[in-house]
Amino acid sequence: MMSTDQTLVCADCSTNFTFSASEQEFYQQKGFSAPRRCKPCRDAVKAAKGQGGGGSSYGGGGRSSSGGGGDYGSRPQREMHDVICGNCGVQTKVPFKPTGDRPVLCRDCFQR
Ligand SMILES: [Zn+2]
Ligand SMILES: [Zn+2]
Repeated sequence: MMSTDQTLVCADCSTNFTFSASEQEFYQQKGFSAPRRCKPCRDAVKAAKGQGGGGSSYGGGGRSSSGGGGDYGSRPQREMHDVICGNCGVQTKVPFKPTGDRPVLCRDCFQR
């Protein structure tokens, strides 16, 4: 197969980056589609996922989670239960029935 380097545009920061011939072969072998982000952005995404996001205060920039296929909103509505957060004491709702043997956390606390 004859591959050549491609220049792609990062979906996150709009930087041009090189999708090299060897990378293309690698992606093809793995059955991946072409990357949509440049290397730094991909690393940033990985890092963010790995750490579960701790106190990230990204400066500016309104385009947080735009783009990317969203299968949001395709879930059936669930019954919500009123609970008190076991960590901060705020009243919140959860989509499952609290069992009582585990503290229930509000969304804020849960995301820490
Ligand atoms: Zn980028
Ligand atoms: Zn809480």
